Amino acid sequence: MLRNDQLDQWDRENFLHPSTHLGQHARGESATRIISKASGVYIEDRDGTRLLDAFAGLYCVNAGYGRTEVADAIADQARELAYYHSYVGHGTEASITLAKMIMDRAPAHMSKVYFGLSGSDANETNIKLIWYYNNILGRPEKKKIISRWRGYHGSGLMTGSLTGLELFHKKFDLPLSQVIHTEAPYYYRRQDDSMSEEQFSAHCAAELEALIEREGADTIAAFIGEPVLGTGGIVPPPAGYWQAIQAVLEKHDILLVADEVITGFGRLGTMFGSEHYGLKPDFITIAKGLTSAYAPLSGSIVSDKVWKVLEQGTDENGPIGHGWTYSAHPICAAAGVANLKLIDDLGLVANAGSVGGYLNAAMKDALGDHPNVGDVRGEGLLCAVELVEEKATRKALDPTRKVTASIVSAMVEQGVIARVMPQGEIIGFAPPFCLSQGEADKIVDATTQAIKATL
Ligand code: PLP
Repeated sequence: MLRNDQLDQWDRENFLHPSTHLGQHARGESATRIISKASGVYIEDRDGTRLLDAFAGLYCVNAGYGRTEVADAIADQARELAYYHSYVGHGTEASITLAKMIMDRAPAHMSKVYFGLSGSDANETNIKLIWYYNNILGRPEKKKIISRWRGYHGSGLMTGSLTGLELFHKKFDLPLSQVIHTEAPYYYRRQDDSMSEEQFSAHCAAELEALIEREGADTIAAFIGEPVLGTGGIVPPPAGYWQAIQAVLEKHDILLVADEVITGFGRLGTMFGSEHYGLKPDFITIAKGLTSAYAPLSGSIVSDKVWKVLEQGTDENGPIGHGWTYSAHPICAAAGVANLKLIDDLGLVANAGSVGGYLNAAMKDALGDHPNVGDVRGEGLLCAVELVEEKATRKALDPTRKVTASIVSAMVEQGVIARVMPQGEIIGFAPPFCLSQGEADKIVDATTQAIKATL
């Protein structure tokens, strides 16, 4: 086995890590924890430190670590048939079975799934299909995409543009001109304190409609949103939000993309977030939970309405010019089949709902009255604690103090990994679905102790 100091040196010399302060890493000012194994909700590093992973990697190891059923399916598939493509007239048993399993679980009005490898590429696929759709319908001007500030939809050129977080735009010349942003449904940070949740939802819908009217509805193709804002701060929508937004979109003939990369396959206690909030999307983006991250796989699910136009398009123009070499990769598809079976067999969607409710209630009980905790919020197995300088005025903490980062480091000392969300002073939680109540208590205790010790 390689020595830790050797790995540390190679890491600093060779590895450009994602979403990392590159200079600090290369200069050795921030250490890399080298994770070597994992089981259930626990990960372990090479020094033998065992940590409860309260973020399931990056909201993705939904079935939990160490699932031999999934590992065996991957190994069997690799031995039997490591790869064949799914272009023109080819497929594999694993990829066809998985497409059937996804469509059996998707909302009834959805039609087919296109496979990719990441949430980012699935959203790129969605946007290309939306443009194709409007071209086939003879409305080439209807192309702009609306997303929300604080939305997260990926890191590519288009998807990084859709993402509504400054960090992902700064110095990258993003967003691209076809993307426009509207207000986030961030009730805790509303401007007007007197608004109820329903009034704030109506206000967000009115802002959206004003934007559509300013730009011209005939220039706007689609609206993309996560059922619950994830990376932008884990923000569940205020009451009535999705109903109000959908009414505006329908009125102006604008497609809805539900980005369910986090919420798909059970995180809210329902198979899809669309079900949870009564959404009727034209596209659903899936990734992470599809394989519980045992292999990279994503999908763009299209509705019957979209499918009919795509079909007409290829009848008129020939095969659709969109494909990735690894689309429907059989090893990833085998992981997906085994993972979805496991989620059913262990009742993990129901557990995500019940233990998620328990975690959110326990976090609120423990921290709701703390003077520096402005908001404890969540839905299903998503939870966030937002820290403030002053509770009454919701005054933000000075970001240069890096209080949230210190708290999350203190939590690691207590054996729990949580996430510093990228914008605002917010601690995020998104544990695996197999979390027990005892493990939820451990997360709450570590958070409470770390906050009390730091603030
Ligand atoms: N969409 C959402 C809602 C996400 O949370 C993410 C990643 O966190 C993505 C898209 C992008 O997925 P990926 O990182 O696999 O490209």
